[in-house]
Amino acid sequence: MPAEDAKALEIVDLQKRYPNGVEALRGVSITIEPGDFFGLLGPNGAGKSTLIHCATGLAQPTGGEIRVFGQNAIADYGEARTAVGLAPQEVNLDQFLTCEETLEFHGGYFGMAKRDRQERAAELLETFSLTAKARDSTRALSGGMKRRLILARALMHRPRLLILDEPTAGVDIELRLELWHYVQKINAEGVTILLTTHYLEEADQLCGRIAFIADGQIAAQGTSEELAARYDVVNLEDAYLALVGRRELSRSHVEGGITA
Ligand code: ADP
Repeated sequence: MPAEDAKALEIVDLQKRYPNGVEALRGVSITIEPGDFFGLLGPNGAGKSTLIHCATGLAQPTGGEIRVFGQNAIADYGEARTAVGLAPQEVNLDQFLTCEETLEFHGGYFGMAKRDRQERAAELLETFSLTAKARDSTRALSGGMKRRLILARALMHRPRLLILDEPTAGVDIELRLELWHYVQKINAEGVTILLTTHYLEEADQLCGRIAFIADGQIAAQGTSEELAARYDVVNLEDAYLALVGRRELSRSHVEGGITA
């Protein structure tokens, strides 16, 4: 059993070099405490997906360590995997399954007993307001329902760490706010969350701690306020602009120009 005081996710000096020679991760270290809502922000190509793929067993790191609740996620992947739920960026539902089957099949994959699968699926369909759609094919769901079902599926085997890879990319504002509501609820119930997003407002609103990643390395990490202080600016967005070398785009310039 993992130690009680183990970190939810501990990544130490993680390296990933793809066969084509691209060094996507160049010594990344992050620590996520149980119960944290942790954000990972960075420009395209920074290494966010590679990090998530390494932490979920979809990619093999070329160096470093990953521990999930104290389990070595590289050597003992099976053990560590059961503690992790992944809600991927793309809507990858099987169109030939109903909502209920989507959840139950996922539970089966994780070795849950039939009765437990049925009960857990019913509970999650209720939580995500999908009970009325239980027997409907996933094909018949609206975009918002699909996103909710993906979250429910990620939670089906009761993972203690939920990884959300750009859960609100390209969704409208109502759905974005609705998803925020759900993920805050999940976090409040004790699930640790790692979120990647391009929306600074989203990270600001949801995440207690945030790491900036650029060019395969962690450039800075801390609370939103700490990151602002680190770059000597007033908010997270300006800190991010400083990270990517675009301080001149700060909205404070625009506002200052108008009110001056
Ligand atoms: P992000 O998710 O932050 O946009 P990625 O992890 O997708 O960044 O990519 C990091 C770097 O690794 C980029 O230079 C990207 O082109 C490269 N990369 C990603 N996946 C592969 C792959 N399968 N093979 C080779 N290079 C890859």
